[in-house]
Amino acid sequence: MKIGLRGGHSINCRGAVGLRDEYLQMQDLYKHVRDILVTNGHIVIDCNSNANTVNGELTEGTNKANSNNLELYLTLHMNSYNGNAYGTEAWVYSTSRKSYSVAERLVNNYEKLGFHNRGVKVSTSLHDLRASVAPGIVFETCFCDSEKDINIWSPTPWEKLSRYICNAIDPNIPLEETAEKEEGYVVTDYLGKQIPNYDGAEVVGVIKSYFKDVDKVYVRGNSIGMWLETQLLPMNKCKELKERLGSFFDSIR
Ligand SMILES: [Zn+2]
Repeated sequence: MKIGLRGGHSINCRGAVGLRDEYLQMQDLYKHVRDILVTNGHIVIDCNSNANTVNGELTEGTNKANSNNLELYLTLHMNSYNGNAYGTEAWVYSTSRKSYSVAERLVNNYEKLGFHNRGVKVSTSLHDLRASVAPGIVFETCFCDSEKDINIWSPTPWEKLSRYICNAIDPNIPLEETAEKEEGYVVTDYLGKQIPNYDGAEVVGVIKSYFKDVDKVYVRGNSIGMWLETQLLPMNKCKELKERLGSFFDSIR
């Protein structure tokens, strides 16, 4: 999915400041949401702005959004009122746009984090919704001037605050990160697939090209042919080897 994303407001035209600074918080949140979406195969268009007027930053955001043929335009905000209002809410242009179901999941997910669910609201006047060609959502994560909200917001890790947003956009993204193994070993495809019966495959050249920085590489075989397996390696090394091996890669075990 191609998503336009913006952390509300601009360094030169700040948003709300309460117990937390909306602009600074949303820039952090933006980066985490972006990274999780990209890791999960989505394209994120940076719709942030450094403009120094409200109109400037809003327009720059929707201009970037509209020149990128997006499927969704999401802007991240913190609400602010009188210190007594609290909770999470999401704004859409119309309940019939595709953004409505995403917005519902956003507030439902944030309710699971502990925020009061103020629901999905409709506005045809908010700039981000009105001027965006793609279905837009203004997500007011919580109130930056509410002690009640900040008591939930502050202790919750960025990773979690972000995953609950990404899962609303793409329900295939799990709410909790699945623990990844720290080590593994790399298994290649069969050696010498181009040779009849895979008989007589050359090994040294293969090891030199792909595994010169690996200390131990083992030859394994079965009734079909032979392949190579590395020693146990850190997972990032395994992933590097996967890239290097290309079509010769079989698996990380
Ligand atoms: Zn805002």
